[in-house]
Amino acid sequence: MRIILLGPPGAGKGTQAKFISEKFGIPHISTGDIFMRNISEGTELGRKAKNYIDQGLLVPDEVTIDLVMNRLEQNDVKEGYLLDGFPRTVHQGDVLCRMISESGQMLDAALLIDVPSSYIKERMPGRRICKFCGSSYHLQFNPPDEEGLCDHCGHELVQRRDDHVEAVEERLKVYEEQTMPLIDYFEKKKLLVRIDGTREIEEVTREIVEKLRALEKNE
Ligand code: ADP
Ligand code: AMP
Repeated sequence: MRIILLGPPGAGKGTQAKFISEKFGIPHISTGDIFMRNISEGTELGRKAKNYIDQGLLVPDEVTIDLVMNRLEQNDVKEGYLLDGFPRTVHQGDVLCRMISESGQMLDAALLIDVPSSYIKERMPGRRICKFCGSSYHLQFNPPDEEGLCDHCGHELVQRRDDHVEAVEERLKVYEEQTMPLIDYFEKKKLLVRIDGTREIEEVTREIVEKLRALEKNE
């Protein structure tokens, strides 16, 4: 399956992506995780992305599109993938859809994890992520088994560099202006699947799995 995950920052895309990727056996590609890893490692890509990310802005399309197009040429994604955080602009959406149709493939769904900004502002201060594998936790809603350590790989959990109040406000504004038009875009293509992301994590997972299984059956 080829699936994209849409939704505001902090909607739970990364959290749900882990489950979807495992259940459907498709690689999880998160542009946010790739940028964050490159910033920590001090690479050229990290240097290009850092200032934008710290201010809550989108990394320019030229940089992001090249990154994703190169990733989608690798062998492990031939049978499918889960894109988390891409596309985030209509231009990115156009490039992705063109690339998919030119390679004779199909996009199965654009899953929108819908969460109002009031919930997001409440969630963000409690988010903690694993420095090593990017897994996402929440001090209150999704705590790790052992305080401060990742359940998957045991590395230290930290607060994300862009989860402070000013950047969250900016990211929500950017989402409304630049990413929300993609909801209409995928609705018109009959690919949009809406999920209520305000419920508990397990309930959100259950609904996503149910809807994706139904799509699989119809293929
Ligand atoms: P995104 O990848 O969309 O930015 P995350 O998956 O990192 O979002 O989730 C943002 C924060 O909200 C994390 O701290 C995560 O543990 C928490 N979270 C995710 N889904 C839910 C949910 N359904 N209810 C409460 N908290 C959630
Ligand atoms: P995320 O982890 O998805 O919240 O992404 C973290 C940050 O990486 C975002 O706030 C953007 O600055 C940048 N980013 C991630 N994906 C994209 C994208 N598709 N286009 C532009 N910038 C992106």
